[in-house]
Amino acid sequence: MLTKAPRGTRDILPGEVERWLLLEDIARNLCCLYNYREIRTPIFEHTELFQRSVGEDTDIVAKEMYSFKDRSDRSLTLRPENTASVVRAYLENKLFGLPQPVKLYYIGPMFRYDRPQAGRYRQFHQFGVEAFGSLAPALDAEIISLAYEFYRRLGLNNIVLELNSIGCENCRPRYRDLLKNFLETRKEKLCRDCRNRFINNPLRVLDCKEAGCRSLLTGIPKIVTSLCPECAAHFSSLKEELTNMDIPYKINPFLVRGLDYYTKTVFEFTGESLGAQNSLGGGGRYDGLVELCGGQPTPGIGFALGIERILLACKGEKFKINPSLQVYVAVIDREADKIAGRLVKELRGMGISCDRDYLDRSLKAQLKQAGRLNAGLVVILGGREMQEGKGIIRQMDSGKQETYPLAGMAEYIWKTREQEDSTK
Ligand code: AMP
Repeated sequence: MLTKAPRGTRDILPGEVERWLLLEDIARNLCCLYNYREIRTPIFEHTELFQRSVGEDTDIVAKEMYSFKDRSDRSLTLRPENTASVVRAYLENKLFGLPQPVKLYYIGPMFRYDRPQAGRYRQFHQFGVEAFGSLAPALDAEIISLAYEFYRRLGLNNIVLELNSIGCENCRPRYRDLLKNFLETRKEKLCRDCRNRFINNPLRVLDCKEAGCRSLLTGIPKIVTSLCPECAAHFSSLKEELTNMDIPYKINPFLVRGLDYYTKTVFEFTGESLGAQNSLGGGGRYDGLVELCGGQPTPGIGFALGIERILLACKGEKFKINPSLQVYVAVIDREADKIAGRLVKELRGMGISCDRDYLDRSLKAQLKQAGRLNAGLVVILGGREMQEGKGIIRQMDSGKQETYPLAGMAEYIWKTREQEDSTK
């Protein structure tokens, strides 16, 4: 118990964490290029926020939330997703007063009580963006292209973008009726969850993963044929924008996404060879959500991408990180320790990563450690060279070495590195 993390959670250890940092760097750089600013919201919120926005009948709210009472008997919930929190923050902090559209992004942990399996955790992480204040299909396309570019920069070139429009409050009720009529004669054969969905939210029958339910959907009316003129025009402009940006997509009429707040555009990115958990991210428009949470009617659109799954998908692709240390300072004898300490401090002060021995190792063992740490240079201090006021600088890859005066050594290393960097 004491040495086991809770089910569905995991440690991200050195060696793996470098991949996370690189992924986060790519996300942050891209968001900067696309003019999205970072927002950090609390890890827990009032339970009601998710009940109202995500929807009482969704799997997330009905079955997967980590909710608890605090010491003042308030019901709080570890965030299962972040769109609701960002909308809450947008309203609470009056971000609607900023020039529109307001474009935000986040990276952080989410919590869902679900059956853990490969690619599905109870604490997992998402990189997401949200943009408020514009109905333009070009903004939908921008958001999709940001995600697409993110996967591309990670070396994931076989991502499939699935796209659908689920209409708005004007056209969806008509489609819902069509769907109900179609499912009426088949409802006894639906799975237990879908029998409930049939009553509360029949659209969600469309993305049920049960084979039995899927087989009942042959010939089902497609939502895109029921869109009102405004939603149909929005959807066709979005498709044109994507084509214009050379972003390939596949229309999936069964894609509705599990959350209640979506309107018009919905999309999902899937990866190959990930088995059942092949969804690498998804999103859509939520033009009614801000109003539902108590604000003025404000359109919104966003996505959330699952970091664990993306890193799993990157395993087979070009995404190798070799953490390295710039300099390892080794000593021949302990008399050199003080000079080693000063040199390490000086190098670090110049922005050069370096380390030294703290375990009284022999020189041979120190050099071995430098190799394990993938050090670029090793400085060897002590012995005859030190008596002459010098030290040895050895390049680890070529084995080339030189002696250099201790005074000015840090600066010499710094200058050499600068020159190497500028010729790379
Ligand atoms: P959602 O918020 O359900 O639309 O999920 C967006 C993305 O988050 C999914 O496409 C997955 O990549 C990821 N995701 C969702 N749930 C989990 C989970 N339990 N474990 C790991 N990743 C998840």
